[in-house]
Amino acid sequence: MSLKSYFQQPGDGRVHPHISAADIVWAIVMSRILRVTSFLRLEWLVHSPARAGLGVKAPFGDDVLAYCTQRMNPERTRLALAEALHQAKRNKAFENSRFIGLALDGTGAGRTYKEPCRLCDPIKDAKGEVHGSLHHFVLISVVGVGLTLPVDVEPYGPGDSEYAAAQRLLRRAVEHLGPRFADYVVGDGAYATAPFLHTTQEVGLPVVARLKENLPLLAAAVRARFDGQPPHSVFQEGDDRVEVWDADDFAPWETLDWPAVRVLRYRQHKRNGTVVQAEWLTNFSIRQLGSLSFYRMAKSRWEIENRGFNDGKNRYGMEHICHHHPNSILIVWLLIALAMVIERLYRSRYLHRGDHRVRTAIDLADYLWLSLAAGGPPDTG
Ligand SMILES: [Zn+2]
Repeated sequence: MSLKSYFQQPGDGRVHPHISAADIVWAIVMSRILRVTSFLRLEWLVHSPARAGLGVKAPFGDDVLAYCTQRMNPERTRLALAEALHQAKRNKAFENSRFIGLALDGTGAGRTYKEPCRLCDPIKDAKGEVHGSLHHFVLISVVGVGLTLPVDVEPYGPGDSEYAAAQRLLRRAVEHLGPRFADYVVGDGAYATAPFLHTTQEVGLPVVARLKENLPLLAAAVRARFDGQPPHSVFQEGDDRVEVWDADDFAPWETLDWPAVRVLRYRQHKRNGTVVQAEWLTNFSIRQLGSLSFYRMAKSRWEIENRGFNDGKNRYGMEHICHHHPNSILIVWLLIALAMVIERLYRSRYLHRGDHRVRTAIDLADYLWLSLAAGGPPDTG
């Protein structure tokens, strides 16, 4: 499925629609790139003279946006995201990167005081009193390639867990992207558990996960080995001096069916004098992956935090619930992910040709607003 055919048929579930889903979905995706983050403000936008420039045929209200997103099939949008990423890979958007990573992490968003839906997690204080609810989801994103590109999201409500949602999400993402799309999976300490590590093995991807005190025996064995040893190597990485300890023969904990565990400790000395130390585990062999590449993979996890959740929430409205219905919430999260992918590929890879510097996201949004105000359609090539 091409992106064009997705935008023509984005998975409408309505029986007798008056406004085409093509118009609605295109308008939502464009509005996110323009940083319009509520259905009411999008209603205002499509009733303004800017509508023609946006390529939207007829005006519609926020009720139509609610009704349509409540009934859309999320699978179509998930496949469109996977297709956009395939196309990026084919067009060599990642060509300077040796390893393509998939990072996973969970977050809470969309606090509400309205009547709870199926995905609402009650927020309780110390006395057990409820103060509204929060919505949770796990995000999976392409990392380590110079561009952070969201792949898919999986919500989890009460009675479910980040952990179970992450395993469903990883399986589906690899099914959609294909087994040879990515080279590794990366996650924080919450993902350093036998069932999750076994899931990465089932989908055929090596994994890099943070080692913390939730694995006390392994953490103690690492301290016993590395404390007091001089670093095995020292790298200069940008402005930082990085000391590393790296060994591949630690004993697995009892539920983990790996023959051995490889652990990297790094001590990163920043220019301003701060020192960051952390340990990470993997099933990559030392032959497949040197210590410096291992260090970079571990660091690529921060992209999902900074360029995934922070940008998603602060710039594209991931924090805000447009219409309080489980499917509508999911569809909007997926459309935000699609908007981020399109915006980033367009700005960093399509516009960035020759000697032009990469436009910032806000530069592009401003440029689109000015084009719309001038009454001309933006030149989207
Ligand atoms: Zn809810």
